Formats: sequence, C-alpha cells, structure tokens
Amino acid sequence: MRKKIVAANWKMNLNQSTANTLLEGLATIENAACEVVICPSFTLLSTAQSKLPSNFSLGAQNVHPAPEGAFTGEVSASMLKDMKVKYCIVGHSERREYFAETDAFIAEKIKSLLSNGITPIFCCGENLQIRQNNSHQSCVESQIRNTFSLFTAKDIESVVIAYEPVWAIGTGMTASPEQAEEMHLHIRQVWKDMFGETAAAQLSILYGGSCKADNAASIFAMPNVDGGLIGGASLKLDEFKVIVNACK
Ligand code: PEP
Repeated sequence: MRKKIVAANWKMNLNQSTANTLLEGLATIENAACEVVICPSFTLLSTAQSKLPSNFSLGAQNVHPAPEGAFTGEVSASMLKDMKVKYCIVGHSERREYFAETDAFIAEKIKSLLSNGITPIFCCGENLQIRQNNSHQSCVESQIRNTFSLFTAKDIESVVIAYEPVWAIGTGMTASPEQAEEMHLHIRQVWKDMFGETAAAQLSILYGGSCKADNAASIFAMPNVDGGLIGGASLKLDEFKVIVNACK
C-alpha cells in the first residue's frame, strides 16, 4: 500500500547509551503523519525493539539471503523476524560499493525477506559520473529491472523503493526537488511497465541523500515522493523531528 514513510538509517553509529538517549527523544515526536521506521545496527535491535514508541516500526540495515547455516557473522531474515523487524534496507550504495553486492545477490535477499513477511526498502541510485553523463535514468532503471526480473506483481506488493543518488549520500549535496521528482516518476513508470498500473500506484518511493531539516519539506512536497530515507540527520533528534513533521 502506498504510504508516507520516514526511515532512519543509523548506519554503524551509536552505542547502548547514546541509542537510549535518542530513543527517549523519539518518544517525544507526537502525531506523526507518516510511518517512522528506525533502522539501527544489529547490536541495537533489541534495545530499539523495547524502547521504540509503539507507533514506530523497527527496521534492519542488512540481511543474508540463506535461511540458516555456516555464514559466520551474518543474520537471516527469520532472525530479524524473531526480533520483530518489519523493514530491512537492501541494495544500499555503501553495501554495493564496499561489499561488492550485486543485483542478483540483492534479489536473493529480497526473496528471503518477503518470505518472512519483512518489507524490503530497496535502494537504487546513480553515481556522479553517470549523472553528469545524463545516464541516471537508465542506470536506476537497470538496477530495478535486474533485481526484480524474476518477481511477480503479487511478490512485490509490499516492496518500498528508496532513490538515493550516490553523489548526495553523506556529502551535503542533495538532489533538487525537481531532480528527485523526475527520477521518482521514472521509477513509478518502470514499475508500471514491469508489474502493472495498480502496483505502480501502490508503490512508496522514498528519497535519500543529505535530506535534512532545511530541505525535507520541499522534497517531500513533490507528487511522487512518499517520504525519505535519512542517514546523518536521523542521528540528531531536533533535525529528525523536523524531517518527520515535514512528511505528511
Ligand atoms: C543513507 O545513507 O541512506 C543516507 C540517505 O545518508 P545521508 O542522509 O547521510 O546522506
């Protein structure tokens, strides 16, 4: 179902003490008009699960596609389900770049998440060179087509997409509202071509990449932007509150 979402990607940050402080602060966010999803590191899932305000959802930042077995250091979708995780980020550019994750591997992760009832937040986005070559639409389109080619419209009903231009992640450079809207519209059209009109109308597409208190409202106001995936700014309570309140 298409809905407004603000998801916090805490990345490899915070400890039990600083996470507790932030979680207590999050509880002061009242009447959010969007679904708020908090994605802490694995070590903080338990703390977040017990401290998260009841109207917020818990997310994870990664999953291994295998159901169980000899994969030292990895965590399966059923383990996430056991922790009451509802969302999981996949395809983040940092994992594509530093851990050489391919579209095929990301597709396996999505399959495993869906079979455990967890909603994948699928990240896609172009790097600066591709943007400068004006190939950004075809780049994102092929990430989506390669990843979802073996899925059906029924399979992908719950999938959320996050458009995250790599040149905007953690750089302070952000896509303009018009650049975000152009890509989100393109993603919705690709989804329509792959899975039909209903699937496209139901898809939530988030923007991520240096989304902050001072630019969130203008980006979220675009018709095809359904919220945001927030990195750095999600670690600062005051900043994150403004972003959540801008999503309606
Ligand atoms: C992210 O890494 O998903 C992200 C959007 O980071 P930032 O907001 O810090 O650019």
